[in-house]
Amino acid sequence: MMDLGSAQAGGARLRDPRYDILFEPVRIGPVTAKNRFYQVPHCNGGGYRDPSAAAEMRRVKSEGGWGVIFTEQVEIHHSSEITPFIELRIWDEDDMPGLVKMADAIHSNGALAGIELAYSGANGPNLYTREVPMAPSHTPILTFTSDPVQARAMDKQDIRNLRHWHRLAYRRAKRAGYDILCLYGAHGFGVIQHFLSPRTNQRSDEYGGSLENRARLLKELISDARDEVGDSCAIAVRLSLDELAGEAGFSNAQLRDMVAMHAELPDLWDFAHGTWEACSGTSRFKPEGAQEDLIRGLKQLTPRPVVGVGRFTSADMMVRQVKQGLMDFIGAARPSIADPFLPKKIDEGRIEDIRECIGCNICVTGDMTMSLSRCTQNSSFMEEWRKGWHPERIQGRQSDHKVLVVGAGPAGLSAAHKAGLRGHDVALAEASAELGGRVTRESRLPGLNAWARVRDYRQGQIAKMANVNVYRDSRLTADDILGFGFGHVAIATGASWRRDAIARWNLLPIPADPAMPVFTPDDLMAGRLPAGHVVIYDDDHYYMGSVLAELLVQKGCNVSFLTPSSRVAEWSFNTLEQGTIQARMLTLGVDVRVTRGLVGVEQGGVTAACTYTGRTEAIACDAVVMVTARLPDDALFLDLKARAAEWADHGIVSVKAIGDANAPAAIAWATYAGHRYAEELDAEPLGDQLPFRREVAQVKD
Ligand code: ADP
Ligand code: SF4
Repeated sequence: MMDLGSAQAGGARLRDPRYDILFEPVRIGPVTAKNRFYQVPHCNGGGYRDPSAAAEMRRVKSEGGWGVIFTEQVEIHHSSEITPFIELRIWDEDDMPGLVKMADAIHSNGALAGIELAYSGANGPNLYTREVPMAPSHTPILTFTSDPVQARAMDKQDIRNLRHWHRLAYRRAKRAGYDILCLYGAHGFGVIQHFLSPRTNQRSDEYGGSLENRARLLKELISDARDEVGDSCAIAVRLSLDELAGEAGFSNAQLRDMVAMHAELPDLWDFAHGTWEACSGTSRFKPEGAQEDLIRGLKQLTPRPVVGVGRFTSADMMVRQVKQGLMDFIGAARPSIADPFLPKKIDEGRIEDIRECIGCNICVTGDMTMSLSRCTQNSSFMEEWRKGWHPERIQGRQSDHKVLVVGAGPAGLSAAHKAGLRGHDVALAEASAELGGRVTRESRLPGLNAWARVRDYRQGQIAKMANVNVYRDSRLTADDILGFGFGHVAIATGASWRRDAIARWNLLPIPADPAMPVFTPDDLMAGRLPAGHVVIYDDDHYYMGSVLAELLVQKGCNVSFLTPSSRVAEWSFNTLEQGTIQARMLTLGVDVRVTRGLVGVEQGGVTAACTYTGRTEAIACDAVVMVTARLPDDALFLDLKARAAEWADHGIVSVKAIGDANAPAAIAWATYAGHRYAEELDAEPLGDQLPFRREVAQVKD
């Protein structure tokens, strides 16, 4: 395997002493973490369905130097589960092999293995087990899916059962090899928070009312855990910093009172923001370290170590968090996904090699869509076991073929970087003066600045590789390419937004009067802006429409936002942004019109139809921005394909279109396509074989 890390580049460098504090060992009850890098629990869309894929992903993080590595949430009992979402389970012995495999993987390089134990209660509709959910009080199921199910209020026997089920889970977790058992009471997702919050706990017995009473269950669960496994396992609790419901909920002030009251209760306090949406905010809406005000002072209330999160990728920021007494451990989910080797790179003085999370939440969409998670920055995420990919290494080249990559967007940059890592001589030709393609253009739009990290990381890596040459201002033609004599040619020339309203709602063109100026996102990104009253027609449903609405409001336009969906930026529900985006539109004074499909573009306005009734309405405007579908910029690829008969004479073995030039999609698809291209250079055709490994359910009699 080729590795362009320190080893290949001439040996490990010394850590900057400024960062020494991050590598101090920290004691957590009966166990000790080797450093302060703490991978907090995070979902991955694989869970119980893909146990080996999830385990191998954690193993790579262990290799990358994390001191503590957690599982995703693990459902402790079948009476509470969150189908359709796919996490882990510790219901009975059948779950043990997967959990053992993950603990072993985490231990492989000296990390402590943490398991997050969850009883979802009012958050679990039990669609799979068909058990009646239970919660502190009678409550509808409070999850993303508004299922027609309610949880019934637990009686005292139910609470005794709940404690017993936790005891079973503690024993199994210890037997599976876990060092830290964390009770999940954050993000509004677990029964512990439901007991703590006066909104969801309306009990009148000793488990309800005062804060002391509402914390009773947590106290009992922790004392049971100590009893069962406390000799060798640390007991942690993950709580919300603020439920974001004022004093009616479990507020930051109540949390402080509780921590002060029970300062020594767990071996470690892990604090996350209130809702998952708030905790995992995207970079469009939340900066790095956004939870600082909520966590400040908590550590001073307890002698136990404290973990906090904040999409930390800057080592200096991490040091400050520790030195200022905000936290003992740098908690990270997304930064550990984007760069599983983040601790190691800081340790080896390779800060510039860190692949920083861009805060796009594409990883979250894997969980929300019950597919396997992917990461825009780390295209090997969840492919470590399925395809044998690694974030830092790749198989060495199997031929001496030179590789030409045309187009330096995310697909081209990734292909050139990974092909270079394999040891090929690579030329990367870019038509314009700047690298990055769409990420460079999009990163200039409101809120998307961090997306430039997709370019910066790859550009930085390529710059260090003597075998990769970059040619700017080099728009290539088929004649150019045939004349060069490269063995493999990747066409990564991107895509362009359509102007004809064709996307999902309109599969065919609509009548359009040329008198109405029609713009596309490409126009706006190139500085060609409309003026006056602008209709944005969004049949794309992700971020672009609302980002352009923000841009145009900034530029002084009146904006009407039309979409056939019932919500603005519907797909961004999966990145946890939809509510924030719609709120932003309304706050900015954008005239939001949902369930409206565009049926005509006329001089002076457009005609929209209700997507339910077909009833039409005319909307006067000065210009229209179509945020609809895209078409691949594949003219070069098609030219080359048409001349396939000439390839052999010019030494060409393969020509492939990758990324948006092949089929437009989000940026993560492009970085993946580039990585895949390099992984599969000179590979034997797979024929009818699947291109990945998978696990299928074990069939019982
Ligand atoms: P992707 O998302 O697939 O990487 P992008 O649109 O971000 O696609 O990037 C495509 C890049 O290809 C752009 O920077 C564009 O300037 C460049 N490009 C397009 N046509 C050519 C060409 N004929 N020769 C060199 N570069 C090209
Ligand atoms: Fe960060 Fe985006 Fe990767 Fe998630 S998908 S880890 S938010 S870069």
